[in-house]
Amino acid sequence: MPKSNFIYMDYASGAPIDPRVLMVMDKVSKSEFANPSAIHELGVKAKTILEKARIDIAKILSAHPNEVIFTSGATESNNLALIGLIDTSTPHIVTTNIEHASVLGVCKYLEKMKKIQITYVTVEKNGLVDPKKIKKAIKNNTVLVSVMYANNEIGTIQPIREIAKEVRYYNKVNKKKILFHTDATQALNYLPINVEKLGVDLMSFNSAKIYGPKGAGVLFKKRNVILSPLIHGGGQEHNIRSGTENLPAIAGLAEALKITESLKEKESKRLIKLRDYFISKLEHSHILKNVGILINGDRKERLPNNINISVPKIPSELLVLELSARGIMVSAKSACESADGDESYVIRAIRKTSSIEGSVRFSLGRATTKADIDFTIKSLSAILTKLKRWYN
Ligand code: PMP
Repeated sequence: MPKSNFIYMDYASGAPIDPRVLMVMDKVSKSEFANPSAIHELGVKAKTILEKARIDIAKILSAHPNEVIFTSGATESNNLALIGLIDTSTPHIVTTNIEHASVLGVCKYLEKMKKIQITYVTVEKNGLVDPKKIKKAIKNNTVLVSVMYANNEIGTIQPIREIAKEVRYYNKVNKKKILFHTDATQALNYLPINVEKLGVDLMSFNSAKIYGPKGAGVLFKKRNVILSPLIHGGGQEHNIRSGTENLPAIAGLAEALKITESLKEKESKRLIKLRDYFISKLEHSHILKNVGILINGDRKERLPNNINISVPKIPSELLVLELSARGIMVSAKSACESADGDESYVIRAIRKTSSIEGSVRFSLGRATTKADIDFTIKSLSAILTKLKRWYN
């Protein structure tokens, strides 16, 4: 086995913290302990750090600093974007059937508690949503379209710009003000995030996937968008998200975003090569070919770090545990749902199969090497040879 005693291929669940981010957090934790709302000298210093982080993030997003709201992570950002918007009579939301649980869960909640309507547009077999189907789903009382930028399980990259165009065109023709929200959590390391060019009104992301601290996130909210707060109190974050700001995490998030932005192009190219090498090995190794491994999600429109496979007859958890026993860390589905034991709803949405079919996500990152992939392929072949006897 290469270098360390494990191979981490679960970056889409959580990336290790960058040492440069840790240094910033350490410094801020030690010296900027005052409350940013305090008016004494140390409070003002803390506030300066907070606002500098906001400015740095806004610059990268091509946004105005007032459009950056700090939250506890992408789950909260998604909740704030959707629940915060629903205060009109009987509104309607358009989304897809493969959004992250923190969007679908909010939709289910809103349907039940606020009796609003949701249309779940079905993605195609390749995991991509057709912008025309989004447009067709818009109704007279639609207030929001929410489509994730890249899927956390199968890595498919949704046509965000085209969807934004469809929404804008609909608004223009029908004199409406439907907003467009995207959950960009999985996209930040690899895809353009200029909010103006993307044409989004609201965009969620977190710090954990960009080699920053866990428990920190952002909701970008265009200045003309009015949201009601989920958390009430002291009125921090422009009265939208009360509570003393987590300054070390916010400063760490800003640093992590700057670093990932500077590495984006080079790292994307490097990982695309590794991803495609992984996929070609899966397709050409005779053991894997005999098992009939299927690659989930579009081959081209997918994140540079994502490989998601289905293995007929073998349950996901068994594969994950077998790989883990060989020092390889992967996920069967989103970590946010692993506890419920069911098959992934994302895989079900694209495969429409009722037979047992385990799916496994390998998500690569900054430390992944070709040797890691070779070892993983070898291990997977050994596991499948062993399990074949039981499952055939
Ligand atoms: N959206 C997506 C697409 C994600 O991948 C995740 C993390 N699994 C989240 C939202 C939730 O992020 P957080 O854990 O920061 O709340």
